[in-house]
Amino acid sequence: MQNPVQTVDTAHFERMLLARKEEIERRLKKIDTDLGTLKSADSAERATEAENDEVLEEFGQVGEEELRAIDAALDRIANGRYGQCMKCGEQISVERLKAVPHTPFCKDCATSI
Ligand SMILES: [Zn+2]
Repeated sequence: MQNPVQTVDTAHFERMLLARKEEIERRLKKIDTDLGTLKSADSAERATEAENDEVLEEFGQVGEEELRAIDAALDRIANGRYGQCMKCGEQISVERLKAVPHTPFCKDCATSI
């Protein structure tokens, strides 16, 4: 069976995605620990704590979003659709994939959202 227009070295990107996923998971775990520490800290610095909480939770959200995007990209690798734009179906340039390996969109579609 021949794979259509698959010039992308998916094994390479799979390694990149898995490494990135590991890094984010480690970071999210650390955020959880930090949030736990802050919450149990002395109430005298409550305002600062709340601010830190927000910042950390924002990091957590971004991380989880990226994690979902990475999982979706790994799925696309598994079913041979990696590197294909989810919007227009065009091939995403390798340069773009190198910069953002988990992107589901080509440059044109990403900028038109
Ligand atoms: Zn596109």
